[in-house]
Amino acid sequence: MKDYDVIGYAVEATIYCVDCAPRRGRSPIFASSETDTPSHCDTCAELIEETPTSDAYLYVREAVAEAIHAGRRDSVALTVWMGWIEMSGEVVERCIKRAKRNARRMQVQPLLPWPATR
Ligand SMILES: [Zn+2]
Repeated sequence: MKDYDVIGYAVEATIYCVDCAPRRGRSPIFASSETDTPSHCDTCAELIEETPTSDAYLYVREAVAEAIHAGRRDSVALTVWMGWIEMSGEVVERCIKRAKRNARRMQVQPLLPWPATR
């Protein structure tokens, strides 16, 4: 993907993917545009794959740790955002450790193991 590729459109404060954007009154979002949090199309919920900032990496790591902690394997953090920031196995391990620490602090049992064992 090139920096100048259009990956979505903004209409006022609402974001759309290329397929769902209305034709009028829209501003392009380019692949090079940076974001602190993941953005999804307002219509079909597809991830708009902007360039993640360092804040976005932290945001996704926190969301992944929370999803693991809550046993939410269907969470968008695990199914989509992890791939978006190309989270390494090492970072996932740290998220699992953080989830376990949080679980101890909250005095609840996390629904581990994660990832699911086959
Ligand atoms: Zn869409």
